[in-house]
Amino acid sequence: MENKEADIVIIGSGPAGQKAAIQAAKLGKSVIVVERDMDPGGACLYSGTIPSKTFRESVVDLTRFYDRHFEGQNHITSPQVTIDDLNKRLYTVINEERNIIARQFKKNGIQFLQGSARFENQQTLIIVDKDHRLVAQIKAGVYIIATGSNPRNPPDVPFDREVILDSTTLLAIGKVPKSMIVLGGGIIGSEYASFFAALGTEVTVVDRREHMLPMLDEEIGIHLQTGLTDIGLKFMGNREPLEITRKDGRAHVVFKDGGVLEAEVLLYALGRVANVDNLHIQNAGIQTNARGYIPVNALFQTVVPHIYAVGDVIGGPCLASTSMEQGRLAARHACGVETHHFPTFFPIGIYTIPEISSCGYTEEELKAWNYHYEVGRAHYYEIARGHISGSDSGLFKILFHAETLEILGVHVIGRNASEVIHIGQIAITLRAHLDYFIDHIFNYPTFAEGYRIAALNGINKIKTKK
Ligand SMILES: Cc1cc2nc3c(=O)[nH]c(=O)nc-3n(C[C@H](O)[C@H](O)[C@H](O)COP(=O)(O)OP(=O)(O)OC[C@H]3O[C@@H](n4cnc5c(N)ncnc54)[C@H](O)[C@@H]3O)c2cc1C
Repeated sequence: MENKEADIVIIGSGPAGQKAAIQAAKLGKSVIVVERDMDPGGACLYSGTIPSKTFRESVVDLTRFYDRHFEGQNHITSPQVTIDDLNKRLYTVINEERNIIARQFKKNGIQFLQGSARFENQQTLIIVDKDHRLVAQIKAGVYIIATGSNPRNPPDVPFDREVILDSTTLLAIGKVPKSMIVLGGGIIGSEYASFFAALGTEVTVVDRREHMLPMLDEEIGIHLQTGLTDIGLKFMGNREPLEITRKDGRAHVVFKDGGVLEAEVLLYALGRVANVDNLHIQNAGIQTNARGYIPVNALFQTVVPHIYAVGDVIGGPCLASTSMEQGRLAARHACGVETHHFPTFFPIGIYTIPEISSCGYTEEELKAWNYHYEVGRAHYYEIARGHISGSDSGLFKILFHAETLEILGVHVIGRNASEVIHIGQIAITLRAHLDYFIDHIFNYPTFAEGYRIAALNGINKIKTKK
């Protein structure tokens, strides 16, 4: 067993751990990253963000998804796409990303230590290999826990990697299934459901809530429902599973209301759990909260000030994007340099087909707070770029203060939503007013032009009322 020392030890090499490590190294600290997987990258690289978004891109390209607009097809009669076709791109992307992370660690002098970490006490970390043999003991001034999350897999669900799957094992299925049940209309369930529906799989999403993605601005949610119905996806709300089994090689679900569904495969996407099981945080005097996450203050410190926690392990928003910033901020505070609080406004990208992205408040929130607001809208069919690219369904929605014209929320559904949202994000964070979009020139033709059209629509409503 090796004895090691470092200024900062980071547990986990997903987006949160990576950015924490690079920031600390840039500030001149000696850094060790401990990772139980063979390579750095985290769930983000091997089973989360990167594989799912690569899969999506492959589906859109290989099915020639946007061509159907020009071919006059109501429903997709896409070319036969195999799992091998879809996976080709995946391995290349994962390799490239893995190499970049390894290069960044090397360039910044970050030591990568493979093994599973657990706390011996507040000052000492023990590293064990997969056979539970002691590999190293590390002492550091600061620890940053960035151990992420895993799919929530209840013991009474017979996961088998073949028919009854979670978002990780789904990536290893051998063929594009003919039918699929998705339990859970949250982000992960909705994204995969839409990818498979676009591939031609008969997909049914079931959720105990009334709508998929209920946190969305309601109008955007309604557009989503239409977009998903257009690609053949079925949604069943207000339903909870009672029993999930595998019968004759198929997934079989009995619901509490007595209803039954069966399909070739089932994706169980009802939540994720923090990776804390093997960490022994109690040895360091830390407890998880009632939902199983590690509680932290606004500076990402746990109850033990020199032990920080960032990323999925602390709970929502559970995004790679926010996890990265949490890691960077925690490392800055731990290194004693100037830092700022986690931003109030940040974008959320949902890569369903169609894509959605939002920043700021929803119309329902503004209504509940009795805000004097107005709405400007631009439909994709009003945007030349939408026609050119075969994407004429979608919506830009800008919420703004009816007197000051300050922009309060931006919601986009449609092609490139996750890119164009950043214009709205900047407007919101810099407290810009609606006239910014009217008085400035946008490239033409672009999707971003939607901001201008929506702003004009909004300002006209104010003028009409005056
Ligand atoms: C299907 C899917 C799609 C997603 N899509 C998006 C998206 O489009 N955009 C977005 O922003 N986010 C997305 N996310 C969320 C995103 O992947 C996570 O928020 C992000 O990976 C969290 O980063 P992290 O660093 O906290 O943890 P992780 O990426 O989970 O990494 C944690 C690492 O810690 C390691 N670890 C755990 N315990 C130990 C231990 N005891 N010792 C050593 N190492 C340990 C793990 O092996 C892992 O490598 C998606 C997630 C999923 C599942």
